[in-house]
Amino acid sequence: MTQIDNQLEKMPKEEAGRKPRLRFAPSPTGLMHIGGYRTMLFSWLYARHTGGTFILRIEDTDVARTVEGAVEFLLDGMRWLGIDYDEGPIVSGQYGPYYQTQRKAIYQQYAHQLIESGHAYRCYCTAERLEQMRNAQAALKLPPRYDRHCRYLTEEQRAANEAAGLKYVVRIAMPLEGETVVHDEIHGDITFKNSDIDDAVILKSDGFALYHLTSIVDDHLMGITHVLRGDEWISSAPRHIQIYKALGWELPLFYHVPTVLGKDKKKLSKRHNAPSWIELKENGFLPEAVFNFLALIGWSYDDKTELFTREELIRVFTLDRVGAAGGIYDPDKLLWMNGVYIRQMPLEELVERALPYMERPESAGGLPDSVKRPLDREYTSRVLNLEHERLKTLGEAAEVVSFFFVDELHYDTAMLVQKGMDAGRTLVGLVRARDLFNSLEEWKHEMMEPPMRELAAELGMKPGQLFGAIRVAISGRTATPPLFETMEVLGRERSMARIEKAIERLA
Ligand code: GLU
Repeated sequence: MTQIDNQLEKMPKEEAGRKPRLRFAPSPTGLMHIGGYRTMLFSWLYARHTGGTFILRIEDTDVARTVEGAVEFLLDGMRWLGIDYDEGPIVSGQYGPYYQTQRKAIYQQYAHQLIESGHAYRCYCTAERLEQMRNAQAALKLPPRYDRHCRYLTEEQRAANEAAGLKYVVRIAMPLEGETVVHDEIHGDITFKNSDIDDAVILKSDGFALYHLTSIVDDHLMGITHVLRGDEWISSAPRHIQIYKALGWELPLFYHVPTVLGKDKKKLSKRHNAPSWIELKENGFLPEAVFNFLALIGWSYDDKTELFTREELIRVFTLDRVGAAGGIYDPDKLLWMNGVYIRQMPLEELVERALPYMERPESAGGLPDSVKRPLDREYTSRVLNLEHERLKTLGEAAEVVSFFFVDELHYDTAMLVQKGMDAGRTLVGLVRARDLFNSLEEWKHEMMEPPMRELAAELGMKPGQLFGAIRVAISGRTATPPLFETMEVLGRERSMARIEKAIERLA
């Protein structure tokens, strides 16, 4: 018995009886930012946790706003994160097609069924009339809302419009009185006044149905049991419930999950510094760390555990632990988590995964173009071994270790002179250090440190003053991994040449 079977055993009866079917239903009107994957991930995790089905449905009926390549971008990101689906584009399934533009006739059929049953009506209003109406409402500071003009046309007026071949849209006829209660599994019951719900368009004059109809028809026909989506959709839910009722269909369970917010509590958006998966990848974030990080935006296991493998998340992910309040996208936390994943990785794997980042062109964040590719694997491995503990992303590797690879260091000579020192004393220190290094029998870091400490004492310097000068000399930087280990990896020849160069600069 697998762990998942084990979980199923423990599941409440009503859930076990009906295997959950969940969907993610993006509109390809832009390249989805990372927050969208969080919402997708919740549905995916719950489907995997329960042994249910995860469906990907492309809600592409707003053809004018469809962005070319958006679906491919979405799918590539899913592949990168390791989120698969059971039914959807490409893999298909028995409830397809999974692109709404390919389901036009299905929606038209239901739109007409709603007209027949009196739950929807044809609206012949022209764009001009609607604009006048909106202007008048704005002048009176009323919310913009269709005035239901065509809902009350007489049979004769309607027939005349038809005979004249007027274009029409189909609008849903919302109840005018009473209330609709949205039962949300996360937020509880939310009551809406029916008089506040607009008679929204469900079918446009070009025959394309709109979201409020398409999503309901599809959720029903595709057997969706749990509708999980961002809480910005709560206000649409009463309308949806009325459409379900009008069609005589059973409601799914609704879970409006917290919108992904930035640290400033503002909604994460492309304009508002939300990265895409590809930016994260290019910056050297690991998909497994991003996966872990996303799962914790608006969901928690016990308010303290942060690190979960994919398998652990599948095992423990339940919807009752999704919070009602905003999930925060905290880039610092992602950086920390990525560092943890890098540290946990065996060195061999780190080398394997960091090499492509280091070998990419300099302009893309790789090592200086003057460094010959491919890199020497064995040397790179020794270099990365020194940085393993400190590395937070694979993308920063090139910049952090570049001094190990370049022929020429560029730094300001003044950097050699440490606090409390002057150029003359620094020169003396470096000359004496060079001679000591030269006399070493073996180029091993354990053999370097003791004589260098003695030398510093002899010259009346603090070890940091001498070591700091050597550090700048061999790396051109003020911070490196432990100095003598760095020199060991850098090699005798390179290290000595660099100290020689520093002496020349000071002399
Ligand atoms: N197509 C909608 C979107 O882009 C889906 C909303 C829902 O999940 O019902 O977000």
